[in-house]
Amino acid sequence: MDSEAHTLHLLFFPVMAQGHVLPMVDMAKLFAARGVKATFVTTAANAAAVEAAIGRANRSYLHPIHLLLLPFPATAVGLPEGTENLSLVTDDAPSQEKFLAGVTMLQGPFRHAVADLHPDAILTDWFLPWTVDVAEEFNIPRLVFHGTSFFSRCVAEALGYNPQPAVADSIVIPGFPHRIQLLKSQLPAVTQFIPAFANLLDQIAKKEWRSYGVVVNSFYELEPDYAELFRKGYGKKAWHVGPVSLCNKELEDKSLRGNRGAVDHDECLKWLDKKEPGSVVYVCFGSQCLFSRAELRELALGFENCGHPFLWVVRSGVDGWMPDGYEERIGGRGLIVTGWAPQILILNHEAVGCFMTHCGWNSTLEGVTAGVPMITRPLFAEQFYNEKLIVEVLRIGVGVGAKNHGERPDDRELVGAPQIERALRRLMDGGEEAEGMKRHAKELGEMAKKAMEEGGSSYVDMGNLIQELMDRRSTIST
Ligand code: UDP
Repeated sequence: MDSEAHTLHLLFFPVMAQGHVLPMVDMAKLFAARGVKATFVTTAANAAAVEAAIGRANRSYLHPIHLLLLPFPATAVGLPEGTENLSLVTDDAPSQEKFLAGVTMLQGPFRHAVADLHPDAILTDWFLPWTVDVAEEFNIPRLVFHGTSFFSRCVAEALGYNPQPAVADSIVIPGFPHRIQLLKSQLPAVTQFIPAFANLLDQIAKKEWRSYGVVVNSFYELEPDYAELFRKGYGKKAWHVGPVSLCNKELEDKSLRGNRGAVDHDECLKWLDKKEPGSVVYVCFGSQCLFSRAELRELALGFENCGHPFLWVVRSGVDGWMPDGYEERIGGRGLIVTGWAPQILILNHEAVGCFMTHCGWNSTLEGVTAGVPMITRPLFAEQFYNEKLIVEVLRIGVGVGAKNHGERPDDRELVGAPQIERALRRLMDGGEEAEGMKRHAKELGEMAKKAMEEGGSSYVDMGNLIQELMDRRSTIST
């Protein structure tokens, strides 16, 4: 038998948003490192963000990852040419509608690609529910990737995708091993979203169960109760393969990730080099979050008043938020960078003592992997669920006390500077509680690394998935 007959071919397709594309690139790299032939699907305008990372990694694989670019119909749906990433339309509901319409129109070109390549399985984003139709047409398994924790998947199983209407003021999640209580206002509400998004969630709910299984970017030791609940309680076939960001071992891998190039890596590292170990608060709210001028101002004052050094990544687009004389008062104590920062490079610098995060799952897991405790400021999607995991289950973080789910600043209550300062001090001013959280965060960071090493739980589970797909392939071909 030739080597092609022994080689498993997987096709990876994330929705075009950084929080989905980045872990899928990492995942494709991890599968390729195990000898799998991988095809990575995206659109032309998103190619630059992944090309460099894939190109560099390809030097060491038996089967280089193949990048397949689908034509995104931006102008056909009324978007400016090149508007092919969710991060470019987050502040504008009509543009989001158009973007989602464009994503759905990728079904035809995607179907052609699958017909042409006939991979052994497709690993596609939960935001692309129609990929299960394509998989069924060609009798290949569809594995779904939600890009979140077992814990959040369990909440979604327990409450559904549109939980708010059925809840009075608050809810204790039924059937959970821990007592987890969420306010109604912290739950996602489809009515808040644009109609196309409600329709998308409806499609997901209708089609997702036809998937072959779920691939989770997490590791068993982090959330064993919820890995069990998801599989045994909710009957889901799932494989855990993370933290996938650990495939970025060298400095260049870490700095190329996302490849937006806006922030000078050297500037961040040189600034961090001058700080005491564990002294810096790293602040970043992912790739989608929008803040108002008032919210940025409160954050700025919270950082100023807490007295600790901070490195703060601010997304571009809002001006005039900085309090008068702020930069002079902060001096060398704060570094504010605008744009895209090399997050995993920063998080793993010894000067970083805690991570203030919006609790997007990639950031959460990257914080865990780096062994740093967190300050949580969730905003929307499943971020309030992840906050519960960090603060109440893992006990490696302090919440600022956010109470409202809201994509847009107007939808949520302002979190004031005193709340932010209080949370930061609880973690950064020392004391028994803070030391306990730091210690536990470090332990989890070690466990994360072990999970990805040969023989570790995620390494083994990825091997199980590869083997199962190989077995399926031989059954079909005989
Ligand atoms: N990220 C980064 N630099 C930035 C902002 C984000 O490298 O300046 C990366 C971060 O490391 C993570 C991803 O972008 O891997 C964001 O995903 P997450 O799930 O945390 O949040 P989202 O952007 O989906 O809200």
